[in-house]
Amino acid sequence: MPNESSALTVLGSCGGWPEPGRACSGFLLESAGARVVVDLGYGTLPRLLSLLDEPAADGLDAVVITHEHPDHMVDLHGLFRARWFGRRGAPLLPLYAPSGVFDRLKSFEDGTDEALSRVFEPWPLPAGPYRCGPFRLDSIALPHFVPNAGVRLAAPGTTVAYTGDTGPDPAVVELANGADLFVAEATDRHQQPGVAGSDSDRRCDLTAREAAALAARARAERLLLTHFWPGNDRETSRAEAAEVFPGETLVAGEGMRIPLS
Ligand SMILES: [Zn+2]
Repeated sequence: MPNESSALTVLGSCGGWPEPGRACSGFLLESAGARVVVDLGYGTLPRLLSLLDEPAADGLDAVVITHEHPDHMVDLHGLFRARWFGRRGAPLLPLYAPSGVFDRLKSFEDGTDEALSRVFEPWPLPAGPYRCGPFRLDSIALPHFVPNAGVRLAAPGTTVAYTGDTGPDPAVVELANGADLFVAEATDRHQQPGVAGSDSDRRCDLTAREAAALAARARAERLLLTHFWPGNDRETSRAEAAEVFPGETLVAGEGMRIPLS
């Protein structure tokens, strides 16, 4: 029986930059009354605040950011402003992220962490495991252009694993091992002719088919594809993944709420 008090809500599902009416990577994870936001890319903050129904983001227990690219963290600075101007003096909000994320925030603050350190309590990733509200937070380094932490959040009865951005790598299978829900990037750059390829010789993103193959090897129960290149046909990504992954394959869309068992 799905436990309605545990759920993942999609704040944004685009990679790179947001399509009209959409946002970049972000998810709100809820369990046992706790709320953790995972990634805060372009356009996710207003959606998060609407879900919380609190303009200063009250009711948020922790923030997890996979890496420092703006399509995963730029709205974290907006969250900082909401807390700094709206709730100065409130308890610190735990921020789990690679150190480069905090450095990017500092660059928006003229190079100082004076105000930031009065809003956030930073904890490094990959590291831990941490106790994050009702969740155990595990993390693992995955290949990307900058340090990227794949994260795994487990509460009684449910485990969610999320790649952030990654190339194909055995560590992804370790991350997603037996997860109830595996949230995988499916950038599918190849889908549209003329889309620029990766700037690196290393593989730093996935196709939907690769994400599905990794999910199958990990024996994940359900697969949620996300981080679609703007303009991609998401049903094509779903169909390609479904050829490889035997479980249920979901396609992320803004506002989608997935109950977790
Ligand atoms: Zn990205």
